[in-house]
Amino acid sequence: AKRRGKRNYARYSPDMDRDSRRRTSRIAALRRAIEREELSLVYQPELHLTQGRIHSVEALLRWNSTDHGTVPPGEFIPLAEETGLIIPLGEWVLDQACRTLVAWRAAGADPALKMAVNISAVQLLRSDLPDTVARILQRHALPPGVLELELIESVLMSHAEQALRRLHVFRELGVSIAVDDFGTGYSSLSYLHRLPIDTLKIDKTFIDGVAAPDDHDDATITSTIIAMARTLGLATVAEGVETPAQLAFLQRHGCDIAQGFHISRPLPGDDCQHFLETAPAR
Ligand code: C2E
Ligand code: CA
Ligand code: CA
Ligand code: CA
Repeated sequence: AKRRGKRNYARYSPDMDRDSRRRTSRIAALRRAIEREELSLVYQPELHLTQGRIHSVEALLRWNSTDHGTVPPGEFIPLAEETGLIIPLGEWVLDQACRTLVAWRAAGADPALKMAVNISAVQLLRSDLPDTVARILQRHALPPGVLELELIESVLMSHAEQALRRLHVFRELGVSIAVDDFGTGYSSLSYLHRLPIDTLKIDKTFIDGVAAPDDHDDATITSTIIAMARTLGLATVAEGVETPAQLAFLQRHGCDIAQGFHISRPLPGDDCQHFLETAPAR
């Protein structure tokens, strides 16, 4: 039998070779995705529950690679973060999302409609992010108030000082801030309350259970988050709303905004524009 080398003894397997080759070739492809025009955005509407109108849309990145087919964001975003590619990619997303919003506004969309953009921890930790955002808003002549940045909860805890500095600049700029996947990290509402943030997006894992007869914990956690957020002056968005029963629960407990397949799946730009023009008031 072949002798095992010292470095990779026992851990070597042909699968690892194949996985690491695939990883390397995906990184190379991702590096060229922008110039090859393989990236696109889809837009998922968020419904305001008391006003009955679409309050915002969230831009979600899609990669349709010539070489790798459709790669889900859950796979390529981490690669982009590890390699630093998330910086040019994230800038492309911001620019494209703003461009789309400008087109919708020119075609008569509600001037109050917001565009929500996901910002990775790697982007947030760069000191030039606020300048980048300000430059893109200026380029498209958009009022800062229509842009909402979604940040994940964990970065606000792990890099509290840097994050706080950035948040204050955004507050000054007039851009609003949502905490994404709220409830999955370990931050307390009393801590978040001291940050200049506007909105909590309650993670889908809680919403999944709110109308399930055997899952009282999720219902209790969700209604408690909504009630406490209200006391602290923060708006609440429920992620991943898939059923009428979940929507009814959220309405009953005073959640402000709902997003999920029950309202709309993420849509290509033109389809989303059509949805905005024709969505019946609820
Ligand atoms: P996220 O920000 O939490 O986005 C919500 C995800 O849930 C999206 O998945 C969306 O398509 C999906 N979703 C929405 N409603 C429902 C529902 O009712 N049921 C189910 N099962 N799923 C629902 P997607 O588009 O695959 O994105 C996954 C994650 O990738 C996002 O999670 C976000 O963390 C990241 N991501 C996507 N686009 C970007 C981007 O432009 N920049 C950054 N940094 N991250 C992004
Ligand atoms: Ca998000
Ligand atoms: Ca989420
Ligand atoms: Ca549960």
